Amino acid sequence: MNRTLSIFLYATIALTVPIRGQQNIQLSPSYHAIIEKLICFSDKGLKVFYGGPIDTKDKGIKWIMPISFEDRKKKTRAIYEIAFINCTPETAKDAEILFIDVPEIPIKFKNDATTDYATFSSLIKGNYKDGSYIVVRCAEVANLHFPDIFIHCLYSKKLESDKQKIAHYLHKTFHTRKNFLNYYKSQTTETITQEDEEQTTYQPQLIETNLGKQTGSFYVTKIVKKKDAWKAYYVIYPATTTLESIAASNEHILIRLDSGCVSGQIYDDEACDCLDQLHEGLNQLMQNNLCPGLIIHIPTHDGRGFGTAPKAETEIYKRGGEGCVHSTPALDTISAAKLLYGTDSYDIRSFDGAAQLLASLNIKKVVLLTDNVNKIALLEKYGVHVLRKKTKTNKPSCIVHIDAKKKSGNYFID
Ligand SMILES: [Zn+2]
Repeated sequence: MNRTLSIFLYATIALTVPIRGQQNIQLSPSYHAIIEKLICFSDKGLKVFYGGPIDTKDKGIKWIMPISFEDRKKKTRAIYEIAFINCTPETAKDAEILFIDVPEIPIKFKNDATTDYATFSSLIKGNYKDGSYIVVRCAEVANLHFPDIFIHCLYSKKLESDKQKIAHYLHKTFHTRKNFLNYYKSQTTETITQEDEEQTTYQPQLIETNLGKQTGSFYVTKIVKKKDAWKAYYVIYPATTTLESIAASNEHILIRLDSGCVSGQIYDDEACDCLDQLHEGLNQLMQNNLCPGLIIHIPTHDGRGFGTAPKAETEIYKRGGEGCVHSTPALDTISAAKLLYGTDSYDIRSFDGAAQLLASLNIKKVVLLTDNVNKIALLEKYGVHVLRKKTKTNKPSCIVHIDAKKKSGNYFID
């Protein structure tokens, strides 16, 4: 058998046979080749993905570029996000490079009262200076491209050498300044409270928020399900209660199963409403003091499960333009994903892990805050009685994409 054919057959078999714990998620035979096309630089374990645009109202971030480092066994050992501020990769000449370590939960809660978010937000909004600069963030949880789900709880031992390599790459490729600044490091730490071969549970973090007009406090518990397709789950609930008392309630529990989105929830992209949906869920929990509830946030669901790198490519298609795989006029979010993957199967997310978490809490009656038909069907499959509460998805900057989702048949129209 010639080498090309044998590699192709291997890739086809490897990608279509369900992997243990992957909950029968099927990837098309062309998927691997598509991911390869998104890589714009690869050398000695460093992989740089082309990335995609971010729309903000004014100055600030214009582009994100995800990168990974692999170990000798080709296993991902670190992931970083490179954010181009007041510039794009084409206009980054002489840009300064800043490194920042901020975990994602304070960013996703968008609370200016925390130093972590205030510092990150100021940088991303372009407040550091008027000229162009680049912010590199070390990601603690990531799905760069499914099934390459990556979670690290301690910063990489190779952090300093990774920084040097990233700075060298940026200088060589985009003619940025050679030296970098260690701008900020979060003091947030994580403590494991329980661990066995199936699951690691971390000590709940207390997050004080001031979302919109309301203030509130939440506990966020990170749970890593080691054999699960998506691995990372954050269980979020009001600090005025406990998981035990929520589970003990006889009422329907208000639930949101919330998929993570790097461009929208971390970098404030105006082209999707994922941040609004998460915050709506948090606001509902704050309002519903009489109705107990929780959010299960699944950060590795980025790009409907395909990951940050392919999702960034679809962001080019949403605006219209030349990507790594296709050039196209502006498309809605569903058409963009179908174009990239060459199939109608544009959503590989599964919610079995979330359903199992609810079962472990003995929660059997829920009011689900959702517009997604599939989430209801999945929970019902697990014997959960589901009532639906619709979301208020009407963000003007992405109405074309919301309409496309409604027409897809997988979402409620009302
Ligand atoms: Zn989004």
